[in-house]
Amino acid sequence: MNTKGDLIAASNLSQDAIIERSTLTSQTYDEPLYQQLSHLVMEAELNDTSITLENAVDDQLLIIDKIAGPDWWHITAYPLEEIRKQAIILPLQLVAAGVGLVILTLLMTYWLIQREVSKPLHEVATVASLMGQRNYQEALSHRAASIKARGEVKQALDAFKTMASRFIAAQNDLEQQVEARTEELAEANRQLDALAHMDGLTGLFNRRAFDCDLEAAIESRKPYYLMMADIDEFKPYNDNYGHEAGDRALKKIAVCLLERTPLKVYRYGGEELAIIIPAAESIDKKLNELREAVMTLAIPHDFKTAELPILTISMGAAAIHSDESAADAIRRADRQLYEAKKAGRNCVCVES
Ligand code: GH3
Ligand code: MG
Ligand code: MG
Repeated sequence: MNTKGDLIAASNLSQDAIIERSTLTSQTYDEPLYQQLSHLVMEAELNDTSITLENAVDDQLLIIDKIAGPDWWHITAYPLEEIRKQAIILPLQLVAAGVGLVILTLLMTYWLIQREVSKPLHEVATVASLMGQRNYQEALSHRAASIKARGEVKQALDAFKTMASRFIAAQNDLEQQVEARTEELAEANRQLDALAHMDGLTGLFNRRAFDCDLEAAIESRKPYYLMMADIDEFKPYNDNYGHEAGDRALKKIAVCLLERTPLKVYRYGGEELAIIIPAAESIDKKLNELREAVMTLAIPHDFKTAELPILTISMGAAAIHSDESAADAIRRADRQLYEAKKAGRNCVCVES
């Protein structure tokens, strides 16, 4: 170890090895590495003050420095394996750190997109869908609790909610209008129905109402009487006093009967009137009261065959049977009316 240089120190990257070899001992000279280095320095023509040799000694990178003055050589031997390992590890670590950073950035971006874009947009879509289903109340009360809507998303949500509250107000308004119109319509129908059952001239119930009520009385199976009345010698009255006077007289008689009975009075047709009366022992008496009330009107009629020169009425009444038709009941009541006419008019005949 002293032909070409006086000191050869061997080392590698291992700190332990450096420490181990920091002091040359007689055993060191026997080591294969030291032997190889020694051989290399003695064999090679080393003129430069510094030289780097790769693989001149197996698997070692040698850095040989000439130490000026004592003609010594300072040799550092690095195991190539170790160097390569170091050369790979650092980039790998850098790549791993880079990949980690990229993943972290992606995760952060995903979280941000979720918080700032996806969730708010989902809320907007939910509210829009509720609006589409006309579920305005739910759209209005929908709480986007998990998100903090900002900017355009908040504007969109607010706009939907404003729209929902307007729709609700409009809907309520419409419902109120519909309710009011329905009530008006029902009232109009009631009036129309009443009109459809009233007689325009006399203000009495008309034939339509009479037919309905007579059917109902028969079906009820309760005891009723049907009374039919007819103004006596009304034709000569019309012929002599005129049709308008006839109308006025007819109206007066109608009002008179209405005032004297709580029952419905019907204009059966022409100058014929009818009343459906709950059965009572005093049916004759009641009908005669009505007949006499007409007499008290004292409507002059000077063209009668009868002596009394005023308008009078004749009445016929028969019990309504629950198993008969309306036509049969009318026929029997009419028969009694005919009997009253035959008996001289201005009287009442009740079927016995
Ligand atoms: P009777 O005592 O037998 O009933 O004799 P009458 O003259 O009343 O005979 P009838 O019942 O046949 O005549 C009915 C007349 O009543 C015919 C018509 O001139 C009159 N009359 C019927 N309806 C109306 C009406 O709405 N207005 C007027 N002014 N007259 C009517
Ligand atoms: Mg008649
Ligand atoms: Mg008559």
